Amino acid sequence: MFNIPIQYEAPVYRPPSEWRSLLIQVTIGCSNNKCTYCDMYRSKKYRERSFEDILTDIKRCSSSGLTPEKVFLCDGDALGAPQELLVKTLRAIKEELPSVRRVGIYATAENILLKTTQELEELYDEGLAIAYLGLESGDDKVLHMIVKGNTAQEMLDASLKIKAAGIKLSTIAMLGVGGRKHSQNHIQHTARLLSETNPHFFSFLTTFSVPGTPYHTMLERGLIEPLTTYELLGEMKEILELSTFKLNKVIFRANHVSNPNPIGGTLPRDLDAVVSTINQWRAETPQGLYPVSPRPM
Ligand code: SF4
Repeated sequence: MFNIPIQYEAPVYRPPSEWRSLLIQVTIGCSNNKCTYCDMYRSKKYRERSFEDILTDIKRCSSSGLTPEKVFLCDGDALGAPQELLVKTLRAIKEELPSVRRVGIYATAENILLKTTQELEELYDEGLAIAYLGLESGDDKVLHMIVKGNTAQEMLDASLKIKAAGIKLSTIAMLGVGGRKHSQNHIQHTARLLSETNPHFFSFLTTFSVPGTPYHTMLERGLIEPLTTYELLGEMKEILELSTFKLNKVIFRANHVSNPNPIGGTLPRDLDAVVSTINQWRAETPQGLYPVSPRPM
């Protein structure tokens, strides 16, 4: 939609809901870069960009006449950047791009827990409105297996901490990430964690094994047994049914390219309609069918 005058360091990723956002790279790569299923930033060595380089990008967009309403700060866990760099970046966006009404960012639980409450509040005051947290699972065994780098308790603490600072929380969970062996625990513990954290936004990705990743090797060696489409839809349905959202409504989406069919709604209001659609899909899905790989993400 924009003709962007920025030289990005590829590859660049953003959440599906940020498709209209101007992307600004604050960091390159991911400071964790260890999750076994993820190959997004394996080609990149993590580093923080200088403020001068970030400002050059922002000024180029400004002088090109861009008037974005939303900005998304990349790469994989830009919230891990030093506080001063983030504050200066948010101020520059406000000054140079006054049309911006929302700034979003990817965050890990680690990023959030390493910042003080005051620092998170400062980022909120400077315009950071939403953080996307890859929870993946609320089950400790699954989190350990995928080398997520944080426990379920840390995910819980981080979620509540960022919400308390005023920043909207968008939580992402992965269907099928624990394979058949951990599926029931993944369902129960993910639903519990979602209920306790009550994010403002929640979405599902479907787990696919990407060649070259440790997850793929584990799958090839039979250490993880993948779920069929029928079972993946069952996980989605059960997690949604078991989650109780009492603090605030949740905008739910499963519209990522990895999901076979897009679905969404506002929870708890639309739960029955969403579950009924999932039931219909399950009824039409052979039980032994495995999902096909998505387009490259
Ligand atoms: S924290 Fe996110 S971007 Fe980084 S390796 Fe894990 S899934 Fe990939």
